[in-house]
Amino acid sequence: TLDFHPAGRHFLHIPGPSPVPDRILRAISHPTIDHRGPEFGALGLQVLDGLKHVFRTQHPVVIYPASGTGAWEAALVNTLGPGDAVLMYETGHFASLWKRLAERLGLRPEFLGLPGIDGWRRGVDATMIEDRLHADRERRIRAVCVVHNETSTGATSDIAAVRRAIDREGHPALLMVDTISGLASAEYRHDEWGVDVTVAGSQKGLMLPPGISFNAVSPRALEAAKTATLPRAYWDWADILPMNRNGYWPYTPNTNLLYGLHEALDMLMHEGLDHVLARHQRLAAACRSAVRGWGLEIQCVDPAAYSPVLTGVMMPEGVDADVVRALIYDHFDLSLGTGLGKVKGRMFRIGHLGDCNDLMLMAALCGCEMGLRMAGVNLQGSGVEQALHHLSSHPLESARTA
Ligand code: PLP
Repeated sequence: TLDFHPAGRHFLHIPGPSPVPDRILRAISHPTIDHRGPEFGALGLQVLDGLKHVFRTQHPVVIYPASGTGAWEAALVNTLGPGDAVLMYETGHFASLWKRLAERLGLRPEFLGLPGIDGWRRGVDATMIEDRLHADRERRIRAVCVVHNETSTGATSDIAAVRRAIDREGHPALLMVDTISGLASAEYRHDEWGVDVTVAGSQKGLMLPPGISFNAVSPRALEAAKTATLPRAYWDWADILPMNRNGYWPYTPNTNLLYGLHEALDMLMHEGLDHVLARHQRLAAACRSAVRGWGLEIQCVDPAAYSPVLTGVMMPEGVDADVVRALIYDHFDLSLGTGLGKVKGRMFRIGHLGDCNDLMLMAALCGCEMGLRMAGVNLQGSGVEQALHHLSSHPLESARTA
């Protein structure tokens, strides 16, 4: 480690927390106000309303002063009872953590998926969910839980297909979706896809620091909450929603992060959500062209599931991805995501989400290419050149001229 601060700026390319834009940092730095006063109520109403647009819902979105894990717990304890069967799907490390959390709450999660790391290289197979629901003749399964954008792998799942699978079976299970790393970066439609509870976080596509998280709640989920018997106190929607109607919370909310959220929503609306999503798709495609140019494998093997948020890069046999990552960090002040769980050491992750543009991505790819070379990884060619080619031959119509 250096005993002085490296010159220039740090390049934060983990798949969240993503870089916080200066505008948001400045907004957060405003003095904290009285959370029971009139100014706060107006702010509360504005952010609660603006969020609906991002989730594409007409229904309430609950904000918790907690990391995403809190919102995971909130989704389950508000809607389910002790010992309830829930169907979860192993897309990767975060799906596995959500399942473990469900177990700790006294639920009975069943984990669908493919053996080994096969399931960690693609999205959810909705037909497996459909078959399992079909076999559930007694309708014991109370909820289907899936991760929309699996941050540990870079695979995105088709949530509309999961909804159709549930509907084809006429199964009453609630659909709960974690889009903690997908919201405002990958296409997401809470109402249209018939999601009952959507879980999201602040530190990814919303460009905020970590610290607040969300539950978007359907009318069916609200109905389920009336009879759900898992113990809950802090997370209880029934305490929060009535106060939210006037822009307040039953406890002290995270005022300064709500300033930041207000700014983030303003930025997203000005750029236009569709433009934001197209920008992510384009950067992701450029990143993948770099990985192919290096002759390395993209972790996600299904092009239909490629994530617009991050790209997982598999290392050749015998190369420890964490050694490469550490070398890149030390030499180029660039942070990349580590391999998690089953793929620890076998891959690293490049985040290209939130407040990211062409040159930021290119800087990250340059750092990767230099580091891979220094680590002695056998590269087929220059991925940087491929990415440059991709970006210059696929201009994204600028928001300013659109
Ligand atoms: N789910 C997904 C898909 C995530 O990416 C993360 C964090 O990266 C979490 C859940 C957990 O959220 P948190 O770390 O904010 O508690």
